[in-house]
Amino acid sequence: MPIDDASQRLAEVQTAIRRAAKIAGRNAESVTLIAVSKMHDAEAIRPLIAAGQRVFGENRVQEAAAKWPELRETTSGIALHLVGQLQSNKAEEAVALFDAIHSVDRPSLVTALAQAMDKAGKRPPCFIQVNIGDEPQKGGCAVEALSGLLAEARAADLPVAGMMCVPPADIEPAPYFALLAKLARDHGLAGLSMGMSGDYETAVTIGATHVRVGTALFGTRA
Ligand SMILES: *Cc1c(COP(=O)(O)O)cnc(C)c1O
Repeated sequence: MPIDDASQRLAEVQTAIRRAAKIAGRNAESVTLIAVSKMHDAEAIRPLIAAGQRVFGENRVQEAAAKWPELRETTSGIALHLVGQLQSNKAEEAVALFDAIHSVDRPSLVTALAQAMDKAGKRPPCFIQVNIGDEPQKGGCAVEALSGLLAEARAADLPVAGMMCVPPADIEPAPYFALLAKLARDHGLAGLSMGMSGDYETAVTIGATHVRVGTALFGTRA
């Protein structure tokens, strides 16, 4: 992707975030844009870094470990967020590599992450992923299990920053975003990781603090 394309797409997404924030009476600075670079190689990522983007998201530990150490060597200030499901046996690697983890969804993972953080002496902020549409094929903790999981995470000293969701496809997402916002508020959490390429503006009007945008920045994935 030529650099102009990357900076143009980035500017468009940033403008859309500002517009949505304004509608909601929010400061656009309170929204972190995570550029989800999964399945795109370093070649495709570099133009976005050159355009000024510093926060990136990946959904697989292995893929991130292959791409990012080298990219990070040439640019300081990169923050890497894990937005995909995490296996407990990869918790140590995830804690070493990522600056935030958006997919904490079960007690065994809470335990594994807490141990990994103790060992690494590093505690990246975590989001509890909620299966907001109650879909069997999706990751995330059931809404009914949320209070229990959050209590376990807090007891294990995980730095819980907020909640994350991926609403069901092909339905109006706003009610799901609103439900996640309510659940986060009820549990005293400020962070809301919600909104992807198709719906991040809606998510921002409903309070998203982190939007995870891939396609709108990088084009379609192979
Ligand atoms: C791939 C992915 C995204 C980005 O999706 P786009 O529709 O390409 O913007 C966001 N969140 C998660 C969890 C993802 O896996």
